[in-house]
Amino acid sequence: MKIHEYQARELLSRAGIPVPPARMVDSAERAEQAFRENGAALQVVKAQVFAGGRGKAGFVKLVSSAAEARTAAQHMLGNRMISIQTGPEGIPVRKLLVAAAVDIAKEYYVSITLDRNRGTPVVIASAEGGVEIEEVAKKNPAALIKEPLHPLLALPPFAGRKVASRLGFRGKQAGIVARLLVNLAQFYMANDCSLAEINPLVATKSGEILAIDAKVQFDDNALFRHPDIAALKDDTETDPLEV
Ligand code: ADP
Ligand code: MG
Repeated sequence: MKIHEYQARELLSRAGIPVPPARMVDSAERAEQAFRENGAALQVVKAQVFAGGRGKAGFVKLVSSAAEARTAAQHMLGNRMISIQTGPEGIPVRKLLVAAAVDIAKEYYVSITLDRNRGTPVVIASAEGGVEIEEVAKKNPAALIKEPLHPLLALPPFAGRKVASRLGFRGKQAGIVARLLVNLAQFYMANDCSLAEINPLVATKSGEILAIDAKVQFDDNALFRHPDIAALKDDTETDPLEV
């Protein structure tokens, strides 16, 4: 089961991942209002759909006024989004996220997913974040860091520190990233996830570490154990015949 970015941000934030605040809206008027309420000079409007590749499709837009937020929202809600992850017919957009822009120094890729060959979840990380990880895997597989989870301990602190260090983090930031990875692994195991992906995880110019995009998917067969998560299900993007 897939959930939206705004839902994933909420869950990850509760799990101890540093996620900056954002507002979810479903109309251009509300987007304009959210921009005012957020108060930041530069903000981002993002389509809330299950497909990725939104940035390149023009469905992640930086805006610097309430009027611009409204225009961006009108465009996104009024057009189907076509990205490399949708078919050529695209998908409709019903919800948007409005959040303060972040002063990005560097983007990283961090995720946990099931490695079916090893039969265990693995952390996959790369200092080449932001771009599609499939491209990194194809062109520069050595840039991918992989660390298997332990079936009982998830990601022990020393393993978190190892990945943080291989990503190039030093000092205080290394400790923050290590803890973030440990928390992400615990979240993944506790909720029977099939994917918990942060792309990008960013280091800001002032040295903060923030998750500014999140994608979380769950094992459908384990949903009976998580009624709170099952309640987040949104079938509006799924083919009615599949539903
Ligand atoms: P997608 O993965 O669907 O393309 P993202 O949320 O990852 O969507 O956004 C794409 C890119 O837009 C990011 O890699 C980042 O460079 C930029 N971006 C996203 N959110 C923000 C933000 N809050 N502040 C600044 N830049 C952002
Ligand atoms: Mg992304």
